[in-house]
Order: sequence, then structure tokens, then C-alpha cells
Amino acid sequence: MPPVAAPSPAHVGRFAPSPSGPLHAGSLVAALASWLDARAHGGQWLVRIEDVDTQRCDPAWVPVILEQLARCGLQPDAPPQWQSARGDLHADALARLQALGAVYACDCSRQAIRLAREALGQHAAPAEDGETPYPGTCRGRGLAGSARTAWRLRAGTPDHPVCIHWEDRRRGPQTQNVTATVGDFVLRRRDGLWAYQLAVVVDDAAQGVTHVVRGEDLLGNTARQIHLQRLLGHPTPAYLHTPLVCDSFGRKLSKHVGAPAVAVDSALAVRQALSEAARTLGLALPAEAWQAPCLDDALQAAVQAWRHRWGPQP
Ligand code: GLU
Repeated sequence: MPPVAAPSPAHVGRFAPSPSGPLHAGSLVAALASWLDARAHGGQWLVRIEDVDTQRCDPAWVPVILEQLARCGLQPDAPPQWQSARGDLHADALARLQALGAVYACDCSRQAIRLAREALGQHAAPAEDGETPYPGTCRGRGLAGSARTAWRLRAGTPDHPVCIHWEDRRRGPQTQNVTATVGDFVLRRRDGLWAYQLAVVVDDAAQGVTHVVRGEDLLGNTARQIHLQRLLGHPTPAYLHTPLVCDSFGRKLSKHVGAPAVAVDSALAVRQALSEAARTLGLALPAEAWQAPCLDDALQAAVQAWRHRWGPQP
């Protein structure tokens, strides 16, 4: 195997699966892409188990996911971290935002939000990522927070909207008006669980993540995360959103649509799965590359192909 560049803290990538099922062909694309990017840059690759949503996640999937990654030769450079063990960090971040007056408590049920939206005629105009902005019902109420209230971030006003401009390494320049798209978004849910937006920003910063490579289904979340990073004084990582894998009905593969686990039960199955993922990523890699007797050699060829496409150029 060619020499691997010494790990550089200048590049820290990560794969952050939610253990709501095994890896499927779509999640393997994100895993492989983030691993290739870290390896191509001589960086570190971390795995973070995003298990804060205890209603959707099952810890029994964690060893399955880690085994699938290991069989594909994708080994993290540090022991995996569990997001659910990082609640203190999430609470610290919320406390800082409370001190800034950037958040408010909200006791709206889904039903109350739906009715308020209907009263505003918002139901007819779904926003770009399938959400309609929170109608702001609790914004001026000055509710005291309790174990049963959500916490929402104030995300601008129609007169002073939060507009985030950023550059995706693959998709190019992006702009999102967070105020109009999602409005004041939830950081801690009414059931006390940390929302993905807060947990991912806090954990990426705490782990020193410099490069986020993940599926394109998360593109619409990035502006909210950048807004939060700026409020909390965290650096914004570089982002690359990878193409999605669709089923024969054109639906994005997900656990929700019953995507099957990616098969890794034989050397041949592993190579097939990786070659399919590399093809989705558009890597210029001959199919024979995956027939190399040693999986590490095949992966190294994929690292070269990634470097050629996404840098750094040799
Ligand atoms: N945990 C998320 C998922 O499994 C990924 C979050 C991220 O990469 O930012 O879809």
C-alpha cells in the first residue's frame, strides 16, 4: 500500500450515522465519501453516533453499523463518540444562547402550529425543504422555560431576515433565507431531546471537524447550522454534499422507505457495495480497481480518484 500522509489536525472529517437502522447503499456513499476526503487530505476521520433522537434510534444498530464500516475497510482514527453522552455540551450551548437572548421557550404542540399556519394561509406555500416557517406564536410571550417547553432560536424577522450565503464544494454557491424557509427553529424539543441542529453544530465544533461530507438530503439544514455556528462563535467547516441514491421509484433511499442493509457478508459483496458507492460519487475508477486482491489497495485507488476530483491536487 502506498504511504499514507501523516494525519493532519488541519483536516478533520467525520461520518455521523443515526442508528435507526443498518447502513444502506445511500448511507455508505456518505461514509465512503467522508473517509476518502479525510484520507485524500491526510486528515483524521471520526465516527459519531447521532443517537439523540431516542424515539428513532436503537443502540442495537450501533455494532451493526460499525461492523459494516469495518468490513468495508473504513476504520475511524479514534473511538466512535456517542452524541447522547454529550448532553452537557449541548446544555452549555443552549445556556450561552439563553444568555444572549437569542432563544425563547415555546409550548406549541404540532396541532397548535398547524392551526396557526393555516390562520396565516401558510399551508398553501410549502418552503423549499418541505417545511413552512414557524408562525412565531411564542416569540413574544416571554414563557419561562420548563422541562416541558421547547427552546427555539430567533431567526430574524421579515424586515431583518437571516440570509446565509455559503459555498458547497460540489453544489457551488448556496443561499437560504432562514427566516422565510424555517423561521425560529427548535434547539431543544418539548420532550427534552436535543434537536439535530444544535447537537450537530456543538459536536462538530467540539470534535474540531473542519470538513463535513454528507448526503445532499441535508443541504437544506446547512444554513441553519452556519447561523448557529456564528452565534456560538464556532468556525464554519467546509461542506460537500454527496449525490443521493434512489430506489426504482425515484425515492431517496432511506430507512423510512425500507432501504435494505448494504450487504457486506463476503469480500465480493463488500467490493460490489464500494464500487456502487464510488460510481454514485462519480469517481473515475475502473471497475477492475475493486478486484485488487487487497481491499486496502482498492481503497487507495479510490483515494487517488477522489483526490483527482476534489483535491488536494498533488
Ligand atoms: N445523523 C444524520 C443522518 O444519519 C447525519 C447528520 C450529518 O451528517 O450532519 O442522516
